[in-house]
Amino acid sequence: MENFEFYSPTRIVFGKDTENQVGLLTKSYSKKVLLHYGGSSIKKSGLYDRVVKSLRDEGIEFVELGGVVPNPRLSLVKEGIKLCRDNGLNFVLAVGGGSVIDSAKAIAIGVPYEGDVWDFFNGRQVEKALPVGVVLTIPAAGSEASPNSVITNEDGWYKRGMGSDLVRPVYSILNPVLTYTLPDYQTACGAADIMAHIMERYFTNTKNVDLTDRLCEATLKTMIRNVPLALENPNDYNARAEIMWAGKVAHFGLLGTGRVQDWASHDIEHEISGIYDVAHGAGLAVVFPAWMKYVYKENVERFVQFASRVWNVDVCFEDQEKTALEGIKKLEDFFRRIGLPVTMKELGITDDRMEEMASKCTRGGTSTVGNFKKLAKNDVYNILRIANT
Ligand code: NAP
Ligand code: FE
Repeated sequence: MENFEFYSPTRIVFGKDTENQVGLLTKSYSKKVLLHYGGSSIKKSGLYDRVVKSLRDEGIEFVELGGVVPNPRLSLVKEGIKLCRDNGLNFVLAVGGGSVIDSAKAIAIGVPYEGDVWDFFNGRQVEKALPVGVVLTIPAAGSEASPNSVITNEDGWYKRGMGSDLVRPVYSILNPVLTYTLPDYQTACGAADIMAHIMERYFTNTKNVDLTDRLCEATLKTMIRNVPLALENPNDYNARAEIMWAGKVAHFGLLGTGRVQDWASHDIEHEISGIYDVAHGAGLAVVFPAWMKYVYKENVERFVQFASRVWNVDVCFEDQEKTALEGIKKLEDFFRRIGLPVTMKELGITDDRMEEMASKCTRGGTSTVGNFKKLAKNDVYNILRIANT
């Protein structure tokens, strides 16, 4: 096991009606907040009205900024920073999914910084941030407890991430009932993202990581069991609750402790959703199996363990590669079964900008991505080619 430090300050308030506590939870941090959200879903569901009532009941003033789109944009982040400065707001409340939360985090680091907030997405370290609170509406990105934000810069369509413990939300409200209104496709995209967050950690060459292996496997199995149930009956509270909790567990840090993590599939996917504006989870359903097919020979044993423990594949001891490939196929079949694309064409991408994506992903071919196998530009290109077949 590798040395590690584990820090997880986000207070989780989980369960039915918990959004009504948002005013109370916010009060101890601020009485002047930016209320940040996406499109129309929170207004249609009535969540917006309940959040506003709870804030008003506690005497909290707010200025609102809606309009966050999936693959959130830098321009709206800059608008949010200006609104906070002009109105003296010192707390950002995100009501929505990963896109809204990531946009809120970017605003939170941009307000106290005099330079261009994009600097943080080019490697600058965060020194100060406003606190961020969350009411989550879709289990997917895990941003509700993660130290990350991913933003798209329209100038060049660069989708880049930053990480700092200072942007971990101070609280996150997780009410599974709020996810009943999700379209099936969004439920499935969220599931793929959650599973990808686990697999980015699971596929490691670090030895002796038994506890975290088994935590990863349990969380994956929870997803495999409950996602079809939620798709069958969108109002299945228990299935929605398991998925929502798994989304947080997948990405708040615990499952990656003591091991070298990979993250190549996320890096490659960001180039796809950065250019084509597809849902991140759908992009991952296409990239992850392709990545697996390209790298499994690096450590066949780990892929055999994945096949056997996660998908209950019988191990073929004479031909371990066969077992490894069977596990990859099971994952692909699962993504198909829950309605996700597994090829570029199914994702709606028919032109060929693979060279450009491989180049952007590896900073013009000057760096590598991933750790399970370090991938240079040519490797990324080959993976995109596999995803295209
Ligand atoms: P999202 O982009 O926040 O939302 C996707 C769509 O779902 C939106 O159109 C939204 O509509 C709708 N929606 C959300 N909740 C709903 C509900 N309860 N009922 C009906 N519709 C609802 O989805 P996401 O997958 O959570 O976030 C994706 C972003 O997170 C990507 O940019 C990805 O790169 C990033 N990400 C971040 C991290 C991290 O750690 N920070 C990790 C992985 C991925 P409305 O706009 O109308 O609400
Ligand atoms: Fe993700």
